[in-house]
Amino acid sequence: MDYRLNQDYPSDFEAKQLILEIGRRMYAKNFVASNDGNISCKVSDHTLWCTPTGVSKGFMTDEMLVLMDTNGNVIRGTCKPSSEMKMHLRVYKENPAIKAVVHAHPPAATSYAIAGLPLNRAILTESVMGIGEIPLAPYAMPGTEEVPDSVAPFVKTHNGCLLANHGALAWAGDAMTAWMRMESIEYYALVSMYTHGLIGQVQELTCDQVDRLIERRTRDGITTGGRPQCRDCGQEGTEACASCGKNANGEAKCRNSCASSGSQADSSMSEEEEVQMITEIVRRVLASRGI
Ligand SMILES: [Zn+2]
Repeated sequence: MDYRLNQDYPSDFEAKQLILEIGRRMYAKNFVASNDGNISCKVSDHTLWCTPTGVSKGFMTDEMLVLMDTNGNVIRGTCKPSSEMKMHLRVYKENPAIKAVVHAHPPAATSYAIAGLPLNRAILTESVMGIGEIPLAPYAMPGTEEVPDSVAPFVKTHNGCLLANHGALAWAGDAMTAWMRMESIEYYALVSMYTHGLIGQVQELTCDQVDRLIERRTRDGITTGGRPQCRDCGQEGTEACASCGKNANGEAKCRNSCASSGSQADSSMSEEEEVQMITEIVRRVLASRGI
């Protein structure tokens, strides 16, 4: 089976097999608990297959899947689709290039969503190129129109988003790419948690490095993903990046004194400081394990 982006729609059989496989991977990777999560895949401009509610996504069979139209009317299937399908339908409505949507509650990404933090720091080359920044959709009451409304602003410009106090959503031009974006979101969140939270020291990418990664991404045909905040921008992100003058005259002007901000490795650390740092890391690891 060919999973390339922007291929024609998959057949009914292919779409159902993809949904079942993604469901198994989602469950095996602990991205969902109980019957959580949902997956959908378009098979024409106006129809899509989706997962049922009340079923573990790791143990679905093809007769459990539901065919619906893009207005939410069930065409085929005996199970009830999830109420969260409203969110999927809105993604398809906002951006016709999207043909598959994956929703899960992966623990690290969901923790960022609970903390109210987007994944927007430039720390991983693969993340900058592959998924870009992952914004945070504001809190929305489950099952209401608030949920699709909260997601809609990001659908044309990004590859996924976090849902405040809820989970994560990824979309793409094909089902396997949407799933891989969900995996990448969780990996980005996990590494971000290790570095920012547990180790407490991060060498973020510079504006220059981010510029070059985004150039590469664009050459590879990926035009969505926004721009993660780079080191030179301090806490102020993309707008500050433009306003700091870096892109205008090629000269980085760091507002927040990067060199002393702790965002770079300190090669002049004394032995005593090193011992203190290692002690602190061990203390945090033990605390995180409840020891
Ligand atoms: Zn959910």
